[in-house]
Amino acid sequence: MKFVKIPSPNFDKKERTLKYIIIHYTGMKSQKVAIKRLQSKVAKVSTHYLISKRGVIYQMVKDQHVAWHAGKSRWGSDKNLNLKSIGIELVNKGDEKFPYLQIKSLCMLIKYLKNKHKIQKKHVLGHSHIAPGRKADPGIHFPWKKLSNQKLSNNH
Ligand SMILES: [Zn+2]
Repeated sequence: MKFVKIPSPNFDKKERTLKYIIIHYTGMKSQKVAIKRLQSKVAKVSTHYLISKRGVIYQMVKDQHVAWHAGKSRWGSDKNLNLKSIGIELVNKGDEKFPYLQIKSLCMLIKYLKNKHKIQKKHVLGHSHIAPGRKADPGIHFPWKKLSNQKLSNNH
């Protein structure tokens, strides 16, 4: 897959096994503001991928590096999900519907990442799943059903 590279300095280099994909929305007023924040050494946040409303996929941190997107988080017995996950940010103020092209790109990206890193379908989660009460993204407009209808599964 082709990605537009817009590197973020916010990541750690660590040996790791990938187990999760975590979906977010940016929750910012514009894509430009969101990217600026995801590259800010002061904000200390980042993501592996960001998908524009038109479906352009930007890569900000390499898959093998630890991006800073999940914060305090847990799923089952796993804590600090940043260590084992890939983060995907969708440009969205938080209360907007997700455009078709954005979701189409997300589905393609997830399929690609799942195959590449052998990630199970049940480990494709939202930020709200791993940080309940603290985080609401990707929110009520996020089409989980579309995601599972797209045959993303590899018999998991
Ligand atoms: Zn989030």
